[in-house]
Amino acid sequence: MADDNPTGFPPGHHHVLDGQRYCPIRRRPYVNKLGEAMALVDWESDCPDCGVAFVVSTRFSETPTRRRCGDCKNPRMVNPTKRKLWRQRYAIAQARRV
Ligand SMILES: [Zn+2]
Repeated sequence: MADDNPTGFPPGHHHVLDGQRYCPIRRRPYVNKLGEAMALVDWESDCPDCGVAFVVSTRFSETPTRRRCGDCKNPRMVNPTKRKLWRQRYAIAQARRV
C-alpha cells in the first residue's frame, strides 16, 4: 500500500493515560445519525486489570478515556434503561396471562 500512515497521526504517535498506553491502529470513515461524515480512530491498548488487548474507538479529535476491556468494565452492571424495559415487558406479559 502506498498509504503507510493509515491513522492520520505521525508515526509513533500514542497517548498515555495514567501509565496506560493507547496506540492508534487505524482511522476509518463514519457517518453519524445526523448523516454527518466524520473520522473515527481505533486505539489499541492493554487492559490494566487482565492485560488483554482491546480496541476503543473515538472521534479523530478526541482521545480515548476507556480504561478496561469489555470483560473487566463493570461486569455486573446492567444498563438501567434495559432493566426498565425488561420490567415493562414482564408486566405486560403478566397482564396478558390473566
Ligand atoms: Zn480486562
